[in-house]
Formats: sequence, C-alpha cells, structure tokens
Amino acid sequence: MGIPPHKTNVITDRLLRSWIRCKRKAWLDRYGDEKKRVWTAHRALQLDHQQRSFAELITREKGKGLKACEIGFEGVMGIRLKGLGPSGELIEAHPPLLQRIKGESRWGKFAYRPVLARQGRKVTREHRLGLTFSGILLEQLQESKVSSGLLVTKGNQELEIQKISLSVNLQQQLLEVLKKIKADLQKDEPPTLISDRRKCTLCCWKGVCNVEATAEGHLSEVSGIGPKRKQILQELGINKLQELATSNPRDLGQKLFAFGVQHSEIADQIVAQARVQHNGSKERLSRTPALPELIDAPGILIYDIESDPDARDDFLHGFIRLMHKKDDEWDLEGAKYQPILAPYEHGKPFCWERINRKLTIYKDWPVLHYGETEVTSLLRLAKQQGVQKQELSKLRARFIDIHDRLRLHWRLPINSYGLKTVANWTGFQWHQKGADGARALLWWRQWHGTDEKNRGNSKALKWLFKYNQDDCLATWAVAKWLLKQDSFLP
Ligand code: SF4
Repeated sequence: MGIPPHKTNVITDRLLRSWIRCKRKAWLDRYGDEKKRVWTAHRALQLDHQQRSFAELITREKGKGLKACEIGFEGVMGIRLKGLGPSGELIEAHPPLLQRIKGESRWGKFAYRPVLARQGRKVTREHRLGLTFSGILLEQLQESKVSSGLLVTKGNQELEIQKISLSVNLQQQLLEVLKKIKADLQKDEPPTLISDRRKCTLCCWKGVCNVEATAEGHLSEVSGIGPKRKQILQELGINKLQELATSNPRDLGQKLFAFGVQHSEIADQIVAQARVQHNGSKERLSRTPALPELIDAPGILIYDIESDPDARDDFLHGFIRLMHKKDDEWDLEGAKYQPILAPYEHGKPFCWERINRKLTIYKDWPVLHYGETEVTSLLRLAKQQGVQKQELSKLRARFIDIHDRLRLHWRLPINSYGLKTVANWTGFQWHQKGADGARALLWWRQWHGTDEKNRGNSKALKWLFKYNQDDCLATWAVAKWLLKQDSFLP
C-alpha cells in the first residue's frame, strides 16, 4: 500500500481518536481504500448517546458555527477549528459542542470550553487528549485561555458531568502523541495489527484486517491468545500460528514457566488449539455426552438477552420454546419465539414476574443459553426480587451453558468460541447480514425512544426481535451439533 500523493498533512481530532485506539486505524483512515471501510453501529450509538447527553446539559436552543459564538449562544455546535499544534503542525478539530462560560474572549465578557460525551464508565486518554486538542485550537480562536473541558454522560439515571483540567502535563502528552502520529503517517505501510484484537469488533476496518490476520497466520488468530500471551510467545521466537501449531508443548511449557505458572499450564491447550486451526480439523476432548440432560427432556427453553452494557440494562429477554418429539427429533417447525421487553421504566419486579411465569409454566424444562451473561443476569434479577437461596439453586441447575459444554467436549478449528463464529461454523446463518449486539442496541434505542429522529420506529423493533430470535436459534444450532456428535459415541 503506497501513500497517495493527494492526502493532506493536517492532523485532525478524528485521526487523533483513531490513533489512540489503534495506530493502524489512523493510517487506514488516511490512506485506506474507502470502499473497504464497513459501517458499524458503534458510531451511530455514540452519536445517539452524545445527542442525549448534550440535550440534557444545555436545554436551550444551541447555535451553529462561528456566528453563534459571536452572538454568545449557551451551546455551539458545528464549528470547525483550525490552527497550529504545540510544535507548529497544522491541526483541525470539529468539537461536537462548545459551552459558554464566564470569562473574557474576543467576543466579549464570556468564553467557551469544549465538551465531549463520554461513553463507557471510565475517563480515558482519548477523552483527555481530545479535549486538550480542541482546547488548544479554541484558545487560538477566542484569544483567551481554555483551562478546562467537560465530559458528560447520560445513562438511564441523571446526567453525569466531569470537569477535566487541561493541564500543562496533558499538553505535553499531546505534543508527544502528535509527533508519533506524524511519524506513523509518514510510513509507506500501515502499522501492524493491534495486539488486543477484541477492539477490532468495533472498528470499520475489521474486514481488511481480518483478511490480513488470517492470510498471515497472526498469533492473535489463535483462540486463547490475548495481547500479553502473544507478546510472551514472540519473545520466545514464536510469531505465527503455524509455528505455534508445530511447537512441542512440553518444551514450550518449560519456557513459559519463566513468565508465570499460569502461562506454562496452558502450553498444551494453545498448541493444540493452533494445531486444529492450522489443520482445519476438530478434536473431541471427552468421551462422555455433552448434553445428557436433553435425552429425556420434554422440551427446552432457549434463552438470550440483549443488553446495553454501559447502562447495565437488559432490555430484552428472548425465549424460544422447543418441544422434544422423540429420540433426536425436535419440533423446530413448531418452535415459538417469545420476547419479553424490559424497558427500565416498567421496573424490575414486572420484568421478573413475566420471566418467572414463563419459567414456572415450563418448570421441568432445561434452559439453554450461550455464555454466562444470561444466567448471571437472571439470577441477579431473581435475587433482587427476593427469591430465596434454595429456589435460586434450583433455578441455577436448570440452566445449561452451551458454550461451556462445547469447550469441555470439543476443540474446533475456529479463531473464537463466540456464538457468531461457532454457529457460523456449524452452518447457521443470521437472517440480517452484519447484525450484532451493537446494532441490536441501536434498534432498541430507535424504538424505545432515545434516538430522537427514529423514535417509535416499529421496524427497528421487528429487526431487534428477529436478531434476538436468531441468537436463540444459533444457540440451538450449536446444541444440535453437540447432540449429533453425542449420537456417534459408542
Ligand atoms: S480492525 Fe483492529 S487492527 Fe485493524 S485498524 Fe481496526 S482496530 Fe486496528
């Protein structure tokens, strides 16, 4: 990938944000092939959250552009700030909101400070440096000091406001970061893939990077290898999936011992996982059936939750009721999807009452789910509603985590044991292409009412239900695959 000559040298706040997340992302934002950029719901969710937070911070009408600053609007949006960075480079910012504060500026007896909406629970370097970046440019425009910025966040509760002091230390950090960005952007090739590839799920360049990771056999492609372990393996001279797959587990275990017993203990597992991925073959880990509880079950409930992780809000509890006909025959045709919506304003007691009714009607049926979220959330809800210890244990015993059973019984040639990857590997397809948890949350907001433009969007609710139903069916696809493998056991 060579650098096209027409690209400018200006460093923008967007590039800064990208670089802090992943150096490669900043490079691709500038030089990558736009056609390969994919839409992710993440940005739309951010904008929705930003709009809600700003609407609560400044309730009066906000002004737009430079004119609004001259007039002295309480909140100003849509302004583009251009100027020089700490070491004389061209920089440009598009702060989503400026808030009027007491002070002096070229416009009169008031000044402005930048405001950002904070998604997530923590204040990050991205927030601090983003505010500092806008602060430097705003100072040049308003001809007076910008000593603080604001971070605001609106969840289901009241607006949280944090004042961030734009200290000399932050300016110094920004100076260093800008130097590094400049250096990275001068490279002919993009920086390497980020070590923590979990971050890639939110990124618009994930298509491009996944292709490269697979083609080159990156270690991060091996399920179970995170950034730390990858670094250790590289220190030991293992840089590719194939090299790990052909390593001797005993020798590797001994070498890994120097980095901590927890690393040496899993040498066998990571070598075996790399091997099945390299060979493209599955491996049975246990000679016992994975799902013995289903042999005589009259039916099962398949359960999947959709949540807003930042607001810690489970807004949809989806169930599929599936009857057992006989032996290995299940009545998928007659399977019934039953969603329970749980808007926070309806309260937890009402939500629990509805879920409990369902669990009571089918009281002898196991409940299948994928991963620990469902059972943790449901037991927490039940406990909050006063369900006693003994009842909680009974309820707990009905839940079967398909992910857990899969990991106990099988090693698969896939780079992740998440529901999407495993179910796709079994041949299951989601009806809505590209749908994921973030998009489900966006649909929820479009229907439930926080996304002002699309409030009450009934199509969004239909899409949300379809997605959640597919998640339940995907869980069943994996369970069915396990049952089929069980049937081959002697
Ligand atoms: S997909 Fe991952 S590695 Fe690629 S640019 Fe995005 S965050 Fe970086």
